[in-house]
Amino acid sequence: MEIILGKTAGFCGGVLNSVSKAEQYVLDNKEVYCLGELVHNKQVVDKLKDKGIKFVESLDEVPNETKCIIRAHGVSKDIYQDAKERNIELYDLTCPKVLKIHNDVVNYVNDDYFIVLVAHKNHPEVIGTISFCGEDSFIVQTLEDIEECINKIKKSGKKKIVILAQTTYSTDLFAEISNKMKNLLDNDYEVLINNTICNATEIRQKEMKEIAKIVDAVIIIGGKNSSNTTKLYNISNDLCSNTYLVETVNELNDDFSKYNKVGVMAGASTPKESIDEVITYLNKF
Ligand code: SF4
Repeated sequence: MEIILGKTAGFCGGVLNSVSKAEQYVLDNKEVYCLGELVHNKQVVDKLKDKGIKFVESLDEVPNETKCIIRAHGVSKDIYQDAKERNIELYDLTCPKVLKIHNDVVNYVNDDYFIVLVAHKNHPEVIGTISFCGEDSFIVQTLEDIEECINKIKKSGKKKIVILAQTTYSTDLFAEISNKMKNLLDNDYEVLINNTICNATEIRQKEMKEIAKIVDAVIIIGGKNSSNTTKLYNISNDLCSNTYLVETVNELNDDFSKYNKVGVMAGASTPKESIDEVITYLNKF
C-alpha cells in the first residue's frame, strides 16, 4: 500500500509558537493557568496539564495576582480589562494572525465601517474577534444568514462595509458568501472584502483537495472540536467517500489492506507523535 502524507500536516507556525512558549512559561513560573484549551487538541492539552498548567473555563477560576495564558485563538476584549483589575498577569499567546484581525477590526470601527465576520459563531476565535467589532457588526456563518445581515446593515445606516473571515474558515465558502453579499448590496455601499483566512489554512485545504483526488482512502488526524480539521474532513469527504476522521490511532480499526493508496492529513494543532502513530499503523498493511 502506498501512503501519501500531506506536506502541510500537523502544527502550523502559530500553534508551534503558542505550545513551545507555554511549555517554557510553565517551567519558569510556579502557578500558571490557561483560559480555555490553548489549542484544539486533547493530546497537546493533556501534555501541558502534565507539565503543570491548570486549564480553566473562566477567568473567575483564576486567583487574583497569578499568571494566566491566553489561548492561541485569542479571547474577548473584556478579559484583558478584568485581568488588569484583578492583577492577573496575562501571557498572551494569541496567534499573531488573530491579533492582526483584532487590530484591523478596531481600525475599521474607527473608520465607520459595518463589520461582517464570515465565521462559526461559537468558535473561541470568533467570540474573541466579534468583541472588538462594536455594535455595527454581524456574524455570517452560512449563506442562509446573508439576508438577516443585509437587513442589519440597512438599519445601521452605515455605508461602508467590510467583510472578513475567521482564520480557519473554508476558502471556497468565504468567496461564495462575500461575492454574493457584494452583489446584493447596491451601488450605494462601498464593500471591501478582506480575506483574513490564514494562508496556512488555505495551503493545507488546497493540498487536501489534491490528495483526496488521487487516493482510495484518506485519514485525517485532529481534534473533533478543531475548526480547521473539520474543514479538511469536509473537503476530503466530498472527493473521497472513504475519509476517516480520528483524534488518535486508537480509533482506527478498519482493514486498510483493501486500499492501494491512502492519504494522511492532519489539522494545525495535531502533534507529530499522533501523525507518526498513524503512519506506523498503516505500515502494517
Ligand atoms: S492556523 Fe493560522 S491563524 Fe490559526 S494558529 Fe495557525 S498560523 Fe495562526
